[in-house]
Amino acid sequence: MSSTIAAIGTALSNSGISIIRLSGKDSLNIINKIFKSSAKLEPNHIIYGKIVDNNEVIDNVLVSYFKAPHSYTGEDVCEINCHGGNQITKEILEIVLENGASLAEPGEFSKRAFLNGKMDLSQAEAVINLINAKTKTETRIAAKNMEGDLSKRIRELREELVELMAHIEVSVDYPEYDYEEVEPTSIVSLLDKKINEIDNIVKTYEHGKYIKNGVNVAILGKPNVGKSSLLNNLANYEKAIVTDIPGTTRDIVEETINLGNIVLNISDTAGIRDTDDIIEKIGVEKSIKILEEMDLVLYLINGQEGVSKEDFEILSKIQNKGLKYITVINKMDLTEKSILDSILKELNKNGIKEPICISVENNEGIDDLKNEIIELFDANDLDYSHELIITNERHKDLLKKAIGYLEDAKKEISFGQPIDIVSIYVKKSTKTLGEIIGADVTQDIIAKIFEKFCLGK
Ligand code: GDP
Repeated sequence: MSSTIAAIGTALSNSGISIIRLSGKDSLNIINKIFKSSAKLEPNHIIYGKIVDNNEVIDNVLVSYFKAPHSYTGEDVCEINCHGGNQITKEILEIVLENGASLAEPGEFSKRAFLNGKMDLSQAEAVINLINAKTKTETRIAAKNMEGDLSKRIRELREELVELMAHIEVSVDYPEYDYEEVEPTSIVSLLDKKINEIDNIVKTYEHGKYIKNGVNVAILGKPNVGKSSLLNNLANYEKAIVTDIPGTTRDIVEETINLGNIVLNISDTAGIRDTDDIIEKIGVEKSIKILEEMDLVLYLINGQEGVSKEDFEILSKIQNKGLKYITVINKMDLTEKSILDSILKELNKNGIKEPICISVENNEGIDDLKNEIIELFDANDLDYSHELIITNERHKDLLKKAIGYLEDAKKEISFGQPIDIVSIYVKKSTKTLGEIIGADVTQDIIAKIFEKFCLGK
């Protein structure tokens, strides 16, 4: 029998209220020892009273009670809503612990909910995503998966694969019965159908990843082209140091910006150019290195000066890496028409896509730039409310692994292997899908998932 656990469920800062949660068979006993009220605590009720320790009133509180199995964890749960001070909350937790509860590990309430069958693993993971969500879209996707949208689809897929296996096995085991004959080609097409369906879920991860982690954006360009100024403009405040001395952005400044449905994680990097300045070089090398982790590069060209050989070198590196990029001509307020024409001509000649022209100084063209970013990431087009979207790397990897086994099954068929060999791989694929919802997972995996939760969840 597991112990009764307790933890503070709210953030430890001075606020209106704090909540201390208890879960386990002794929850009510513990509450009865420390809580005095004129009313009796009934399941699914919240009542007013006082926390009393050694006849001393500690706080006036509200206590709720959820009787097993009708609670978040599936066990008896009590919650104390106390005044939201740091000290008072800690004191009440201490009293709860002194009266028989043990301190919960991070995620232990949700882990118990999973182990007691109140939610499956993918739903529990959606709870973490909901807590950590930074945009409205992210919260909606997490809420849908918490409600069980992904679990439902995974269960369906598993059932369909089990049916396929049964279909194969019955025709192998009972050939004398007049079952519809299983043709290898028909199995292949059924496998293809499942592969395709699973792959469609995998593909949503690309967007899901942007929704969950944001789009990593680098602002690149030669010193003094206006990178920090653009970052400040997008972020709406002075975070990066703007200066007119070339090469003064020594390190990488990062900023998180909400743009429509997506979050941009913008890094402002030291200007890229050939330089012997050692300090600047660290910045430059970092600039090139961080390209590896980027989803989008905003490459700035100085409209006042024109485009240079170095600009094309970097732009071709960006193109070769297959990165998404937007070329931006800045300082349009100082740009002469003849220079602009020659920049456009050069860019075109070098196969660089059409630039966006802006002036950070005059706040011109910034909306065009934002719209181009939104368009590049389809941030306005996706219908998040209807589509099933995965945002979890673990889910994506398992779906891919499940596809791999179905591909293996197809291979066996093409090698002319007996049809029952195929069902071994289909079984592996089914098992792999089961890991997403926690049907076939080890204790290690469970521990790893729940330790990412915050305390009191
Ligand atoms: P960085 O080195 O690329 O980060 O460039 P900064 O953002 O530090 O800008 C260098 C200088 O250019 C600063 O004095 C900015 O005020 C100025 N600047 C940035 N954008 C514009 C612009 O669109 N027009 C004009 N006239 N000046 C700009």
